[in-house]
Amino acid sequence: MLNKMFQNNDLVHKLLNRIARYKEDIRIMEVCGSHTMAIGKWALRKLLPPNIHLISGPGCPVCVTPPSIIDSLINLRSVTIATFGDMLRLPGNNGTLEDARAAGLDVRIVYSPLDALKLAKKNETIFIGIGFETTIPGIAHTITLAHKQNLSRFSVLPAFKIIPPALKALLNSTEVNIDGFILPGNVSAIIGSNAYEFLPREFDLGGVVTGFEPIDILSAINMLIDQQQNNSPKIENEYQRVVSPAGNINAQQAINQVLQVQDSWWRGLGYIPASGLGIRDEFRQFDAIHKYNLDISDQQPDTGCQCGDVLKGIITPPQCPLFDHTCTPANPIGPCMVSSEGSCAAYYKYER
Ligand code: SF4
Repeated sequence: MLNKMFQNNDLVHKLLNRIARYKEDIRIMEVCGSHTMAIGKWALRKLLPPNIHLISGPGCPVCVTPPSIIDSLINLRSVTIATFGDMLRLPGNNGTLEDARAAGLDVRIVYSPLDALKLAKKNETIFIGIGFETTIPGIAHTITLAHKQNLSRFSVLPAFKIIPPALKALLNSTEVNIDGFILPGNVSAIIGSNAYEFLPREFDLGGVVTGFEPIDILSAINMLIDQQQNNSPKIENEYQRVVSPAGNINAQQAINQVLQVQDSWWRGLGYIPASGLGIRDEFRQFDAIHKYNLDISDQQPDTGCQCGDVLKGIITPPQCPLFDHTCTPANPIGPCMVSSEGSCAAYYKYER
């Protein structure tokens, strides 16, 4: 049954009819939480034949942030923690920032790193720097502003992640079984579609950079099916209205000026070489790890949460025994249920 929004949309019908003619199994991973939410919101999975498997990958920055980031902060006092709202209920090994706030930690929700900069004019402030390439340039730019203003009360806890090394790590895992990727339109606007050329070259797999409208996603599925039928894996760009082959050079420069590539822990995925960004020595005074001597070495809590397998596409959220029993958005056990872009939250909201 077509969503009412699509009933008179000829292009949607045409795309769905083309997809329906393909009879082989194909496993397509989307690696962006916004795609995960769009697929759920528009009920796209239900419109597709059962041989088209849409699998959610590690595309939610909150979900992949390790518990040590929370653990390192919750015992601090005399400092303001500024964070995006999704982080508030992210579980650490010893509770959440919400718990710590109830116990007296000054935690403020901000909508931009610039809000944290304003807070730092009065209080010692740590901004939790999470996110992928989409949000990183704005945080890097904020560090340069703090540097220019000599704002010594401001610092950033760097928990940044970058997408291409995570895809490589996934594909190097023997557990993962993927035929192609729906690639993130927002991240790709920064890094460019050329950044994924390693997929066909090293892994014989294709990908399509695409936007967030249902027609974008259905077009990307058609393009991946064509690649599969023609046995010609490649990187294609369905989102040319936003994404260029080289990406946003200014944003890349803003990142490179302040941050440098380093190894990083991903919740559920483990230690991935060269998959994170740390603050360069020239800006060390704004690095909260250095300033407060924070310990962010990883320890994964044993809660029964299977987010790691969800993020790798090995299981779907309903296959986790805790899904919709002990784990719900009101009482999230794992990060994939906490974040508004998490796979478990998307399944709970749209696909129960
Ligand atoms: S349903 Fe909850 S416990 Fe299970 S994988 Fe998702 S977040 Fe983790």
